[in-house]
Amino acid sequence: MANVPITVAHGDGIGPEIMAATLEILKGGGARIDIEEIEIGEKVYLRGISAGIEPAAWESLRRTKVFLKAPITTPQGGGFKSLNVTTRKTLGLYANVRPCVSYHPFVRTKHPVMDVVIVRENEEDLYAGMEYQLSPGVMQSLKIISRPGTEKIVRYAFDYAIRNNRKKVTCFTKDNIMKMSDGLFHKIFDEIGAEYPSIEKEHWIVDIGAAKLADTPEAFDVVVMPNLYGDILSDVAAQIAGSVGLAGSANIGTGAAMFEAIHGSAPRRAGQNLANPSGLLLGAVMMLVHIDQPDVAERVHNAWLRTMEDGIHTYDIFREGVSKQKVGTKEFAAAVVARMGQRPEQLKAASYASAPKQTAAAAAQSRPGGTRTLHGVDVYIVWPGADTAALASKLGAMTTSNLKLTMMDNRGTKVWPGGAPETFCSDLYRCRFLSQAGIAAGEVVELLGKIAGAGLDFSKTENLHNYDGQRGYTLAQGE
Ligand code: NAD
Repeated sequence: MANVPITVAHGDGIGPEIMAATLEILKGGGARIDIEEIEIGEKVYLRGISAGIEPAAWESLRRTKVFLKAPITTPQGGGFKSLNVTTRKTLGLYANVRPCVSYHPFVRTKHPVMDVVIVRENEEDLYAGMEYQLSPGVMQSLKIISRPGTEKIVRYAFDYAIRNNRKKVTCFTKDNIMKMSDGLFHKIFDEIGAEYPSIEKEHWIVDIGAAKLADTPEAFDVVVMPNLYGDILSDVAAQIAGSVGLAGSANIGTGAAMFEAIHGSAPRRAGQNLANPSGLLLGAVMMLVHIDQPDVAERVHNAWLRTMEDGIHTYDIFREGVSKQKVGTKEFAAAVVARMGQRPEQLKAASYASAPKQTAAAAAQSRPGGTRTLHGVDVYIVWPGADTAALASKLGAMTTSNLKLTMMDNRGTKVWPGGAPETFCSDLYRCRFLSQAGIAAGEVVELLGKIAGAGLDFSKTENLHNYDGQRGYTLAQGE
């Protein structure tokens, strides 16, 4: 079988040491790979390239479409862009997959039975990075949840469960509050889940779900969630499994994928042959499965599990009485290589099979149709005075043939008509103009002209549409 080209970056801090150890183990396991090396991170940033990666490196990544990346140091101070975010967005890596496993009794953990895979949506949600200052006193971040984006990640989670012989997929959202955005995520989870009858499905509200995950991780198997919850809970899950030094992660896109450890470059440990290469190695095991070398993935993973069992541990997981030998990075790698072909005796052995590639890409093209009618507009008005009634009276005079002011709220709580005097008001009011019937867009423009003509200061508008007769916007609290 031909070798598969992969792009490798050695990173900063402990990066070069753990990458050297990982590559040695991959070689010892018989990985059929050809390595293209690129430079990323601190040195590149300090050469004045704010993205931390040079154009030639992108060429390699576009060619190989497989990236094994050691951690990098992001220099302190402004102006430097996160390389992880750039890579993720540029290569369209929509799924972040992080297995969080405890290795009891060989690695200290409060949760002896834990084998959870967090599947985090990686491109949307509050991480779309769409932020605005709307008034001197109010900032806004937009939370974007799209149907195709959600279909991709949810389908990925179910396909992952099938391929990896997992029994259950759990979805975390906050759709009791964010009825539209998280509501869509939950709805799509139910829709797509129905196509996987052999997999158990459940949904938790993220707050109590997170509490349960931290308390009873053995109740979970694969957990899929929007970006922000996934970012937070994948760290929680990795930490409670035992050590952040042991977790790897995969960032999967339709055309490319990136594999790494979840920890950073730990600069204080650099150059001392101390660091644990396990996180990066387990990321590399996921890479081997991705490039369809399940035989090598299984051999490497099982040799690593056996090394853990044999008590050959780096300083971060070494414990008197449990561990047998404290080793450095290089010695750890040699110990894993020496165990190629062996399997763990107590820990669950890894087993990987060649599997068809993900179907998510093909399924993710849905463009929902239906009817869409314009019914009004929300106008965000900057109004530093606390006199809500005065603003309402000014706006009340501003009507078009169909649009009239129906509601004003402040930070989502209705303050007119009939607001509570206790409601605290910032300097930004959302003023809702609605029509009973559908209107033409020109009518919104006419209304805005009147508002501007009256000297009122508006910072943004949102058109209010109905979709197939259903309201495409929420009501304010108390509306
Ligand atoms: P870190 O994860 O690098 O280190 C935190 C501590 O965890 C270290 O001091 C060390 O004690 C321990 N540790 C981490 N990995 C270890 C390993 N493999 N073996 C043994 N011990 C290990 O987090 P940090 O100190 O907050 O960040 C350091 C740098 O890493 C920063 O510049 C940060 O921006 C960067 N970072 C990079 C990535 C990435 O490239 N993916 C991720 C996170 C942080």
